[in-house]
Amino acid sequence: MIEPADYGLDNLPFGIISDGRNERPRPAVAFENGVVDLDALVRAGLLDAELLRGATTLNAFLAAGLETWRAVRARLRHLLSVAANARERELVAKATLPREAVTMHLPVTIGDYVDFYSSIEHATNLGRILRPNTEPLLPNYRHIPIGYHGRSGTVVVSGTPVRRPHGQRKPPDADAPTFGPSTLLDVEVEMGWIAGAASTYGEPVPADAVREHVFGYVLLNDWSARDIQAWEYQPLGPFLGKSFATSISPWIVTLDALEPFRSAEPEREPEPLPYLRSRESWAYDIQLELLLQTPRMREHAHPPLTISRTNLRGMYWTAAQQLAHVTSNGASIRPGDLFGTGTISGGEPGTQGSLIELTWRGANTLALPGGETRTFLEDGDTVIVRGRAVRGAARVGFGEVVGTIVG
Ligand code: CA
Repeated sequence: MIEPADYGLDNLPFGIISDGRNERPRPAVAFENGVVDLDALVRAGLLDAELLRGATTLNAFLAAGLETWRAVRARLRHLLSVAANARERELVAKATLPREAVTMHLPVTIGDYVDFYSSIEHATNLGRILRPNTEPLLPNYRHIPIGYHGRSGTVVVSGTPVRRPHGQRKPPDADAPTFGPSTLLDVEVEMGWIAGAASTYGEPVPADAVREHVFGYVLLNDWSARDIQAWEYQPLGPFLGKSFATSISPWIVTLDALEPFRSAEPEREPEPLPYLRSRESWAYDIQLELLLQTPRMREHAHPPLTISRTNLRGMYWTAAQQLAHVTSNGASIRPGDLFGTGTISGGEPGTQGSLIELTWRGANTLALPGGETRTFLEDGDTVIVRGRAVRGAARVGFGEVVGTIVG
């Protein structure tokens, strides 16, 4: 569950809210059990950040760059701390809403959406499942951060229902494809980083320029129709099996908030090419949990069941390498672009970030409370991904990204 300590003074994630009294979307930060309306703080003269006044997305704020983000965050830390004076406290209280009273919106207008494939365990598992009896990992994997361009227009905020896609699918033993609803609907536990300052067209970004170009992270669920995907993915990669929906959590946790949770990068053999090397380590220790609740579990008041626990820290390629790679050909990035990490899977049982891995393409079933089983998603199923970083006394929550399947 989301607890007040997930949104303490050291987190202050940014999002876009509206509420019953004011339906205009506006910027906010989450703090403890509340949500602080930044538009209101600017109008009250408490926060010197004109680009947040009247903003309905965070794109302009992201475009303003690292110094602005840090100045706003430092000011908010003051206003929300015991150091604030009585007048400041009174105005902040006026600008604060209970978290359950607000509707969350997409925090940014997403220009481009890229999804990587940066977990070597996930890539190996999928290779074994989709191309049995061959070397599971393709020869380029350890050299190049593999990714594809997704569909930004169907990135949706947590809570948005996900419609079961229809498409072409051809089981291996069938003579011809048919068209219809996907019967192998799956999830992918991922995180996404949201681009901060724009880069210049024609100028590759070095891997260590992360602080300027990565504003922060969200949780991401890359819904996947495995039957459509299996039939269409060769030779050009994922297409309609992925493009129907991608859900993200509403609060962007900034890179500065994640500083205490940086961890060592995994060993890489061979060493990546020079443009993919960073001086600093950009891996993060972030715990992730995948939960499932069926309609019957809801009826019988069974809480969502945790079906996987994993961690971002083991990813083979970091955001620094992804940033360097996507710009290495001169392509530029824009504020609000979204970059998925790829499914986050560990090497141990119960740490895989997708049903196709957890059930080995349906060969094993998941046992659920009340005697139900699942291999892939049924209509009415709710999927939740939660994330939290904890190290000593430091704690930062990402909240959750939720979606329910509708037929
Ligand atoms: Ca994915």
